[in-house]
Amino acid sequence: MGSQEQPAKTAYARLQSPHDPPLRVIAVGAGLGGCAAAIALHHHGHEVVAVLDKVRNFNRLGDSLGLGENAYKLLARWGCNIREIQEIGNQAPTMKIRRWHDGKVLAEQPLMDMAGYIGHRGDYHDIFLKWVRDRNIPIRMGCDVISYTDSDPTPSLTLATGETLSADIIVACDGIKSLARHLVLGAVDEPISSGYACFRAYFEPSEEMKADPARNAFLGEDSVNFWIGPDTHVVQNTLRGGREFNWILTHKDDGDVPESWFQPGDMNEVRRWAADIDPNIREAIMTTEKCLDWKICYRKPLPTWVSPSSHRIVLLGDSCHAHLPTSAQGASQATESAGVLAVCLSLVGREDVRIATRAYEKLRFPRVRVSQTHGEDLRDRWHNVLKNVDKNIEIDPEMVKIKNRPLYAFDSEQDAKDKWEEVSARVKRECARGRIEPLCD
Ligand SMILES: Cc1cc2nc3c(=O)[nH]c(=O)nc-3n(C[C@H](O)[C@H](O)[C@H](O)COP(=O)(O)OP(=O)(O)OC[C@H]3O[C@@H](n4cnc5c(N)ncnc54)[C@H](O)[C@@H]3O)c2cc1C
Repeated sequence: MGSQEQPAKTAYARLQSPHDPPLRVIAVGAGLGGCAAAIALHHHGHEVVAVLDKVRNFNRLGDSLGLGENAYKLLARWGCNIREIQEIGNQAPTMKIRRWHDGKVLAEQPLMDMAGYIGHRGDYHDIFLKWVRDRNIPIRMGCDVISYTDSDPTPSLTLATGETLSADIIVACDGIKSLARHLVLGAVDEPISSGYACFRAYFEPSEEMKADPARNAFLGEDSVNFWIGPDTHVVQNTLRGGREFNWILTHKDDGDVPESWFQPGDMNEVRRWAADIDPNIREAIMTTEKCLDWKICYRKPLPTWVSPSSHRIVLLGDSCHAHLPTSAQGASQATESAGVLAVCLSLVGREDVRIATRAYEKLRFPRVRVSQTHGEDLRDRWHNVLKNVDKNIEIDPEMVKIKNRPLYAFDSEQDAKDKWEEVSARVKRECARGRIEPLCD
């Protein structure tokens, strides 16, 4: 969209709460998942009393993040002007999947086939935070939740300051290292190495870099390219007409698994990994000053997302369904989950919150497994297709294409309504028997 065009006006009407008084909800974590939860719950008429985050300030953290159409349409329905996101996302019409050693294009497909618009996580996060504030939902920073009490009908949490807060429902959007997950599972689940790690760099190219033909091949305009090779791939994302540049190099890694978004990477190691990549991208990587080292950790699918006693402390987003980067759906699936939780809570009476939260996990589990396994499948196809074959062999483009598009047609709120009768009946039977069936073994 040109900068002089006006954003489309959204006809927006918040829904009435079916409860009197409305259900009171606390969201823990003001990441994209926590913000989406607050916006969705607010839209459905519930009262979001606070979104808590342990950090004092949000910096522009992370790098490339994709947000798909499946998330856009929900956010638009909830009154968010999604053009604000689209305008700052990558404007390239297509992305190219290239051969590692020479950059030959193996497949080209619309950017929308992967993740809709790819933008900077920090910028998208700023907009999500603004949408929450626009709704007068309080965001309380510096609130580190150190414990939960799973009591019915009013669960509570305690902050590091000693303050205790309670609500009808607590939604724990506290990320990959979730504390609430321990309460829900009744145990600490350790991260498992996915066998891969990535080095990530995001920076503004210098004038010198822009003028250097060995480094500026992808700086002229917004673009997205992937270089794939045996057990490795590189993602390049150029944003804002060439003013911002990001590369991510994924490689085999059998090291320990300290999960961190902030661990500095060793550029000498990066240079070893990138030594034989396509010369058109090689120098841009080789001469990068610094990067982050990001272990890609994995967690097995969880048997439950809901607290055992009150059924009123609920996991959402990376706390229960983290994705591999190749899924490009982490934030989008968190947004879908937010919509489903809000819908389910509107379909029960105040005394039946457990039916809603248990239906929520049953509705969401199979859907996020599909999205998660898309990422695993893509990584495996990319990392294996060029193994043990002649360097210049022709590759069928279908073997390397990103196949996320079928995920976008899905409307998670409608799906919840369509399946409600069947799923809520199942939950009621399980509650009557006194045993909630696990989501997986
Ligand atoms: C720093 C950072 C960088 C990232 N970079 C990328 C990226 O480049 N590309 C990408 O695709 N994805 C990235 N992600 C992941 C991506 O943001 C998520 O997959 C997706 O947005 C869903 O997020 P979430 O809200 O469930 O979890 P998160 O984004 O992890 O947010 C969780 C929030 O909970 C807060 N929190 C945690 N524990 C507590 C507690 N005890 N009390 C109060 N608050 C708590 C955290 O401070 C954080 O703000 C990043 C995440 C983080 C945190």
